[in-house]
Amino acid sequence: MELNKLTLIESFEGLRDKKFSSLEITKDCFKQIKKFDDKVKAYITLNEDGALVKAKEVDKKIKSGESISPLAGIPVIVKDLFCTAGLKTTGASKILENYIPPFDATAVAKLKNEDAVILGKVNCDEFAMGGSTENSGFFPTHNPWDLERVPGGSSGGSAAALSADMGIYALGTDTGGSIREPASFCGTSGIKVSYGRVSRYGVLAMTSSLDTIGTFGKTVEDIAVILKYMAGRDEKDSTTLDVPVDNYSEEIKKDIKGLKVGLPKEYFVDGMDESVRDAVLGAAKKLEEMGAEVIDINLPHTDLAVAAYYIICPCEVSSNMARFDGIKYGFSQRDKNKDLLDIYLDSRANGFGAEVKRRIMIGTYALSAGYYDAYYKKAMQIRTLVRQDFDEAFKDVDVILTPVAPTPAYKLGEKIGDPLKMYLEDVFTIPASLAGICGLVVPAGLANNLPVGIQLLGKRFDEKTVLRAGHQYQLVTDWHKQRPKL
Ligand code: GLN
Repeated sequence: MELNKLTLIESFEGLRDKKFSSLEITKDCFKQIKKFDDKVKAYITLNEDGALVKAKEVDKKIKSGESISPLAGIPVIVKDLFCTAGLKTTGASKILENYIPPFDATAVAKLKNEDAVILGKVNCDEFAMGGSTENSGFFPTHNPWDLERVPGGSSGGSAAALSADMGIYALGTDTGGSIREPASFCGTSGIKVSYGRVSRYGVLAMTSSLDTIGTFGKTVEDIAVILKYMAGRDEKDSTTLDVPVDNYSEEIKKDIKGLKVGLPKEYFVDGMDESVRDAVLGAAKKLEEMGAEVIDINLPHTDLAVAAYYIICPCEVSSNMARFDGIKYGFSQRDKNKDLLDIYLDSRANGFGAEVKRRIMIGTYALSAGYYDAYYKKAMQIRTLVRQDFDEAFKDVDVILTPVAPTPAYKLGEKIGDPLKMYLEDVFTIPASLAGICGLVVPAGLANNLPVGIQLLGKRFDEKTVLRAGHQYQLVTDWHKQRPKL
């Protein structure tokens, strides 16, 4: 049996019952990586030695009869945006191509505390700016379902590696859709948590007022287990709130009879693919059969969200990217230039890719005197309206069911030359980000052998309800069990 194909829960049960060892699962993951990652190109850095040492350590614990955590000895894929002590962390940017952090992001530290095995660091759009992983400073990642297509982004490496069974679960980040869109394109489950639910300490910042971190899993049940360990207040991230963390694994067992599911009419737009519409309406029907009540709702400011996001995000990017100056870490043109300003200019001109530069320029412009009120302030006002839309809607419904992206995975190169086309892919994921609420994506269809996901949005900090709806849906469907033919 290829152990890399197991879910997290299956892996845990097998380890606990001594059916196989952590070393065996870990080795099978690396076998898969060596076999297919030449084509998929998900990994930037492998942690083979470190992973094998950790796996042996966990096996020893199991042998000696110690009780183990549900995450112990199980291999995880980590987006290269999370700092990992002693292991290269690039943010898929040339400007950090040789950066080895001296510390772990809190999310990584929490998993390490549970004895997780880190397989390596995977590709993404540079500093998470993008929706296809083509904006990586190194190479694009390919979708395992069709190697000529994008895996989505920015967490495309995480979704691609997981769907190709090059790991058991994966960490990602989501600012405007970066977990949800790749999950949909690669046929995995993935959660964007509420703003403030999981610590972002040690994760490279893109848009600090929107950045969230979350996980991809082969099942929603797996995500419920992982999230329990990642969520909660962290003194090192003042945006995390001290809201109790639910027992997700228990909560998801409850059925969804009487659950009120909202279907927003603004999310059915012209130009969206039939397969996407079918997946959402099919899921609505299924949820209804399971006892949920599907209700039509309105989210009237949806069409303004993309425009507001693409002001707010660049504004914050222009400030967050200022720290990369070629002096403290990473790529530097220090040796070639004597003058400090020349070092800055040369390092940044050669270290950042086109999309990062585009956002720095847009953000700097939008924040400058005379334009601030016209752009940034307006965008923030729209953000409030979008949030109020959701507040209103959640007075009547428990979850909101929507599409994830207007189309299934598109071809590499198809949109990269046209930033506007690329930004419009985010129309269904950005509103929830602006509102700070949570969203779960689960596979819900196949169109020409390409996966199509659906999005279940929940109130802020109500991860338990979207996880419950997603898990109950997976109990009666098998879209999440489909795998690409590699
Ligand atoms: N595609 C969006 C962007 O380019 C979202 C990215 C993200 O969530 N990190 O900004």
